Amino acid sequence: MPFTTFGLTDPLVRGILATGYTAPTDIQSQAIPAALAGSDIIGCAQTGTGKTAAFVLPILDRLSHEPNAGRKRVVRSLILTPTRELAVQIEKSILGYGRFTELKALAVYGGVSIPGQIKGLTGGVDIVVATPGRLIDHLQRKTIDLSKVEVLVLDEADRMLDMGFVKDVRRIVSGLPKKRQTLLFSATMSPEVNRLAADMLKTPKVIQIGRPRNPIETITQHFYTVEKSLKMDLLVHMIEDWRMFSVLVFSRTKHGADKISRRLKTAGVIAVSIHSGRTQNQRQRALDGFRSGKFQVLVATDIAARGINVEGISHVINYDVPTHAEDYVHRIGRTGRATATGDAITFVSKDEEKYLREIGKYIERRLSAQPCKGFSYVKSTPDEPKPAKSTGPAQGERSGKGMRPAKSSRPHHGKRPVEGTRGDQSNRPPRSKTASGAKKPYRGQRRRSAS
Ligand code: AMP
Repeated sequence: MPFTTFGLTDPLVRGILATGYTAPTDIQSQAIPAALAGSDIIGCAQTGTGKTAAFVLPILDRLSHEPNAGRKRVVRSLILTPTRELAVQIEKSILGYGRFTELKALAVYGGVSIPGQIKGLTGGVDIVVATPGRLIDHLQRKTIDLSKVEVLVLDEADRMLDMGFVKDVRRIVSGLPKKRQTLLFSATMSPEVNRLAADMLKTPKVIQIGRPRNPIETITQHFYTVEKSLKMDLLVHMIEDWRMFSVLVFSRTKHGADKISRRLKTAGVIAVSIHSGRTQNQRQRALDGFRSGKFQVLVATDIAARGINVEGISHVINYDVPTHAEDYVHRIGRTGRATATGDAITFVSKDEEKYLREIGKYIERRLSAQPCKGFSYVKSTPDEPKPAKSTGPAQGERSGKGMRPAKSSRPHHGKRPVEGTRGDQSNRPPRSKTASGAKKPYRGQRRRSAS
């Protein structure tokens, strides 16, 4: 079914084609007609299924039919989303699909100074994409007027609740007009999400894409047994030996993310970390650099990763097994976006086997970890030197000064002893292909073309 069958306005169809989409995804095929007909919607769709366009296109269509003509622009659609990165991503999508319309969108989120956002809001916008905390801030300052909102979107509702935004969301929604259309999207439908939906939506149409909870089908999952002390060696081995070129590594903690990133740099891998302890500018720079290929590896915590939407992530590596099974689904959903394929690799140490069992129950699959063939299981990367008490590692990392071990301590990875033969790849994840089926370039090729 082509996009033209939805009856969207011409400028919108042109915008979609210019974005490079040829056919709608499942969630788009089902949600767009229902939303255009004015229904409230509960969209239960895994991450990476194309749900952003599923709500953005009907909003753009509705607002372009009845433009704010002649009078000052007022906010007519509000999209609430859990993270800053996701807000920026949705704003970009709106600008992309709506490039041939006159509509204006603005993302408002925390971690950046507020006056710029106030200026943007004062100038008049049609669509606001917001994280709950910063939006409450604007409401308290009376720098935003939501009294004319016609369409509300609650995006990644499960994560908004996980992140403790339930009170903020309820407070914001209680101030919106009762007569409105509400679209709620969530990867999982917990009792809490159902309660929120029951309170905020009217006779919604429920759209379920894929089996609930199971990770999207395009991702190949691999689990490797490895003791904690060898995880860094295994990571470096995989990235270098298996020639991974666009890798998202997950760490459970901010400190862990910084440490992994530092040690990768020591091993000569171009890496950067992203987590809530970094400023918005640092996070955006890390994301932009990863997107452009400047950084080969992005090391992220769960919350920071929620908004990451990067085309062509070849591998997601869980450096530690997530303790919440839902996080596993969100993590691996960062690869295999829309129609591309991807590999998700999880390192499992003895004490993490219990979490693996939980994930197995959650996604209804029997999961077991195997030793990684071709990896020596002999420690070869040095531990980080313990930082002097007076200078904390996070500070050093942030300022970019003084925390890198001296060059001479770098291990020689090319000469690391490796068990088995290079050709023994029976339990290796294959190199990913692009959506068109072409082999992706190796790291060196990619870096050259990106520079
Ligand atoms: P989302 O689930 O909205 O984050 O989208 C996941 C990825 O799929 C993004 O990179 C989108 O640009 C891409 N995408 C969304 N809709 C389509 C489509 N109809 N055709 C091709 N790619 C799409």
